[in-house]
Amino acid sequence: MRSYKAKMVEPIRLPSREERSRNLAAAGYNAFNLDAAEVYVDLLTDSGTGTMSDAQWAALVRGDEAYAGSKSFHRLAAAVDDVMGFEHVIPTHQGRGAENVLYGSLLEEGDVVLNNTHFDTTRAHVVNQGAAAVDCPVEGAWDRSAEGDFLGNFSVERARGVVDEVGAERVPVVVLTITNNSAAGQPVSMANVRATAEFAEEIDAAFVIDACRFAENAHFIRERESGFEDRTLAAVAREQLSYADAVTMSGKKDGLVNIGGFAAVRDPDLAELAKQRAILYEGFPTYGGMAGRDLEALAVGLREAVEPPYVAERVEQVATLGELLSEADVPVVAPTGGHAVYVDAGDLFPGIPPEEFPGQRLVCELYREGGVRTVELGSFAFPDADRPDYVRLALPRRTYWREHLEHVAGTAATVRERADEYAGLEIVSEPPMKELRHFTAELRPL
Ligand SMILES: *Cc1c(COP(=O)(O)O)cnc(C)c1O
Repeated sequence: MRSYKAKMVEPIRLPSREERSRNLAAAGYNAFNLDAAEVYVDLLTDSGTGTMSDAQWAALVRGDEAYAGSKSFHRLAAAVDDVMGFEHVIPTHQGRGAENVLYGSLLEEGDVVLNNTHFDTTRAHVVNQGAAAVDCPVEGAWDRSAEGDFLGNFSVERARGVVDEVGAERVPVVVLTITNNSAAGQPVSMANVRATAEFAEEIDAAFVIDACRFAENAHFIRERESGFEDRTLAAVAREQLSYADAVTMSGKKDGLVNIGGFAAVRDPDLAELAKQRAILYEGFPTYGGMAGRDLEALAVGLREAVEPPYVAERVEQVATLGELLSEADVPVVAPTGGHAVYVDAGDLFPGIPPEEFPGQRLVCELYREGGVRTVELGSFAFPDADRPDYVRLALPRRTYWREHLEHVAGTAATVRERADEYAGLEIVSEPPMKELRHFTAELRPL
């Protein structure tokens, strides 16, 4: 049962089928070009799209907008210390700001960074420092038929292979992304957090956790790893971060706010370096690009994120969407991860080859059939990677109800029934940077 009720609502509207077809064509068959007002259920991302609590809205009013040393900063720092166990906090405008501040302080040209899987902004910031970003996922991380409770894990074995090749002195940072966003939001076990920490220590590298979904990950550890079922979610959340030297955090995920983030570190010297970089790119180190009111909302959101039963309900809602889709014979990655359901469009549309973007066709048809917005994470978004043609349905936190999920599953079922009627798409125009093409490229149906 839900442990909250609605107190403020935002009207949404399902445009007519004709309108949806027209909108789709006008958007160049790219859902990023749709206006939010044209969308009925928006599952484009879970980033910054969630619903704040009444306590968070109340906290906004308390925001102290002092340039330096605001009360709001101290309340955020106390929350980060209590919930995550880090003493030095550097607020940033969002997660990638934290990546810039931290990796700009830790990396040099020619370095190598190892990560279970780099999230795209993390990879970009590593590369921006002249370093190489190498992924070390475990076997099966991208395999829909793979089984395992912790497919988000870091492969120490693969990482050792890389270190043997390039030399430990070139690897100053090891990162663990929890949950593993780029591997279908699959969780990382506590045993793997410890093993990764030991490995980092062994090669004398800093151990950083990308903590965007730390609360969801802690939930999976409690559910699936023996020895944690009797610990509180808050204790598990803290323990997994206790092995790290630093974290980067996007408040837009498990911070339960619409904007904001921070880097947090243990070493005072590293904190000093990061603060200098924060002044250059973000703002004075006690606000870092956030308004005082946003610092307040994040301070409250972090504490709410580890309160039962919030996370259990959130992860269960994602699982429910996965089950509804499975019952409708729509091929999904199972078990579902923490924040989204991934549909295998290559499997759904066997007649559409990867170069004709089966995932993007599914994105288009989910919108045309039901006004549902999703995102392609396959051959259209990652032109040079050998990835399955997945479409991600990300659930905003505390926002949609079961009826919305049923509508989404019903929409997907209709598309599946007509799967053999659809052809692929071709690109009509695209930006110069291929890596960014899925945000703005325009397509047309073949
Ligand atoms: C969202 C995200 C980021 C970047 O955070 P932003 O707030 O979008 O800048 C980094 N890592 C992971 C795993 C994320 O999900």
